[in-house]
Amino acid sequence: MGESKGLIVVVEDERAIADLQRLYLSEAGFGVHVESDGLTGLASIRRLHPVAVVLDVGLPSLDGIEICRRMRAADDWTPVIFVTARDDEIDRILGLELGADDYLTKPFSPRELVARIRTILRRHAGTPLATPVTAGSVTLDAARRRVEASGRLIELTSTEFDLLAKLMSSPGQVFTREQLLSSVWGQADYGLGRTVDVHIAQLRAKLGADSPIRTSRGVGYSVLE
Ligand code: CA
Repeated sequence: MGESKGLIVVVEDERAIADLQRLYLSEAGFGVHVESDGLTGLASIRRLHPVAVVLDVGLPSLDGIEICRRMRAADDWTPVIFVTARDDEIDRILGLELGADDYLTKPFSPRELVARIRTILRRHAGTPLATPVTAGSVTLDAARRRVEASGRLIELTSTEFDLLAKLMSSPGQVFTREQLLSSVWGQADYGLGRTVDVHIAQLRAKLGADSPIRTSRGVGYSVLE
């Protein structure tokens, strides 16, 4: 096995699934630490500082959603992928705006899990801003993954954050949907253009009157210079 691509903490109480995840993730070059209980899982995440976390939703002692909530409350924005057996749990995850980076529904292909983790890590590595930047009344601090608008903290999902960071990396520059897709989502599929529009709409809703985002009709998006 070559050099490790970083440690992933998996919190999963179904042994067979945990074993599969461990197998595929280690074959892909990641270090893997598995916990089967929510509280010890959270303790391991805090102790080991993994590059990404895979959370089952239904867990003993503390469910996956609560683990993620406590991470975010402690300003830990490590990428999280949820694994869930139920569609209604996905609605709950998204509705709570926990900053979940992705989710998979059981049964899922372990290969798909590896692919999703690679995409998320590529995205996080791509955040180009070392010092806080501002556009209008919005300040974005990439190192701490924090956004403030007129002094109020704005809770963004990881994707919303990365999208805003990309736009704010070059104020005044118009980014096409294709550029945003390839840099934020790691995909060059033009059919996903709607995805960009939906996330821009969510960003605008959260930033409200402070939103610095401009639409260039038929071209793409920019932020104020
Ligand atoms: Ca479970």
